[in-house]
Amino acid sequence: MATSPKSLSGLFPFLKPYRVALGVAALFLLLAAGTTLAFPWVLRQLIDQGLASGAPADQLSGNFLQLFGVAAALAVFSAGRYYTVSWLGERITADLRNAVYGHVLKQSPAFFETTQSGEVLSRLTNDTTLVQTVVGSSFSMGLRNLVMGAGALIMLVWTNPLLMLQVVAVLVAVIFPSVYLGRRVRRLSRTNQDRVADSSAIASEVLNAISVVQSYTAEGRETRRFIDSTLRALSSALGRIRARAVLVGFIIMASSAVLLWGLYMGTLAVRAGTSTAGQLGETVFYVILLASAFAVLGEVYGDMLRAAGATERLMELLHTESHLKISAEPQRAPWPQGGSSLELQAVRFHYPSRPDTWALDQLSGQIHPGQTVAVVGPSGAGKTTLFDLLMRFHDPQSGRIVLDGVPIDQMGLHDLRERMAIVPQEPVIFSGTVIENIRYGRPDASLEDVHAAAEAAYAQEFIRELPEGFDTYLGDRGVRLSGGQRQRIAIARAILKNPPLLLLDEATSALDAQSEKMVQAALDKAMVGRTTLVIAHRLATVQRADVIWVLERGRLMEQGTHAELQAKGGLYASLAALQFNAS
Ligand code: ADP
Repeated sequence: MATSPKSLSGLFPFLKPYRVALGVAALFLLLAAGTTLAFPWVLRQLIDQGLASGAPADQLSGNFLQLFGVAAALAVFSAGRYYTVSWLGERITADLRNAVYGHVLKQSPAFFETTQSGEVLSRLTNDTTLVQTVVGSSFSMGLRNLVMGAGALIMLVWTNPLLMLQVVAVLVAVIFPSVYLGRRVRRLSRTNQDRVADSSAIASEVLNAISVVQSYTAEGRETRRFIDSTLRALSSALGRIRARAVLVGFIIMASSAVLLWGLYMGTLAVRAGTSTAGQLGETVFYVILLASAFAVLGEVYGDMLRAAGATERLMELLHTESHLKISAEPQRAPWPQGGSSLELQAVRFHYPSRPDTWALDQLSGQIHPGQTVAVVGPSGAGKTTLFDLLMRFHDPQSGRIVLDGVPIDQMGLHDLRERMAIVPQEPVIFSGTVIENIRYGRPDASLEDVHAAAEAAYAQEFIRELPEGFDTYLGDRGVRLSGGQRQRIAIARAILKNPPLLLLDEATSALDAQSEKMVQAALDKAMVGRTTLVIAHRLATVQRADVIWVLERGRLMEQGTHAELQAKGGLYASLAALQFNAS
């Protein structure tokens, strides 16, 4: 992967708001590095002056006080650096996470068809955590070690130029093999991460379908499949661990060699009288600083590469453009009273993945305010696609959809979707109370309005019987509702939103007679005073519709009332005979 640390520049916009904090962090960082560099120098004073025979006693205590002063300063500056840098890391990661999530939620269905939600989740968690490691620690560690390494190098040149040259030569000999080994470790750890992700993918698929798995008594097989994939993850982990063990051993061995070499040369110099013991101590310290700076920088470089990869993936996600063209100057349509008017003008659409099949083909039609249109047709006829186009989840390749006098691609997306509510076949109940669920489309609705909507959707009665009435917690960890009850909550949600256009996708599965009657009555109420498009599966619905549109293979084949179309004896008549639930 040709990732370079340059990709990290994608993070600049996220750093910008924190300029002051960045400045403070940099200051603490420099101060801490500076104090570390002062340490060996003070140590040399201690050895050469305080320890020298005949030095006054207060000389020694003075030297120790100096040392303590340096240590105290280092403590304060390091704490300050740690706090500001970690604070920055957390803040920036939180901002990044929110930005990516907010952006992903705005994507059109085409995006979600090509991107698995698991992948988005992994970017939101793993990739942002990698970025956090770099911003919140590695980067400052790198900078500190760069300053310290450079400082130690300068001090070495200043105090012992010849020795320094030798040390640098040996260091370079150490670095190349470490870099090579480090790369290998990184490659292996990437493979390992992929293998771990594979086994989580298996687990999540199986856990989501646990009842099917158990009904086919496939637990044993699934367990073995999981064990296999865990073993693959394990063996790739072992490869990484071996490479890492060699790397660690090599680094310790090589850096000790450098250190001992320096010590040996220094001791010779002290013995020859060309250098003092203090100078030797100082030099050894600087060499340690230099060597450890090199080691840390190697590590940091690895982290930065990984974070650069993560940043690239995040930026890619953050810069995916929704393929919908949003009009820069949206036209405002008047808010219709008594329902929207809707006109389809030769709408033609195919899915990006199926360019050779028109899902909707030259679809034209007009719906007047307040009308109820039942859309019927065999499975695959394009009914759902029509709804998706109305909500602008996709745009037609040709033709236009005009809502309340304005083409929908000229309307603001928010304005467009503000005008409609959908009651899907399988209503979604969010984790939250009954009230929160009904309020979903109008979070600021008053309690009276919520109750009125529940009343109109014939949901009042069963909600009152729930353990805590309207405050009952629903969703995964809460009370489970029956199919009919979920539908009535969804209808109440739509009624509360009070849009001029209602999109209904009737459930295909029949409810029991009692629930059926309630849901039907609720829908009747919901349709009052607005335009309704309903994907119909029930005889009662088509009989009451003002117009029926009969679709087949994306084309509008027939339209008219139930009686008219029955009399015609065409496609509708044959469909009606087979398809509708007579309830
Ligand atoms: P209906 O709701 O009437 O059963 P749809 O609108 O779901 O029909 O589907 C219309 C046609 O478009 C079908 O041929 C279907 O296979 C195809 N189709 C639906 N969704 C997609 C998609 N996301 N990608 C590709 N083809 C699709």
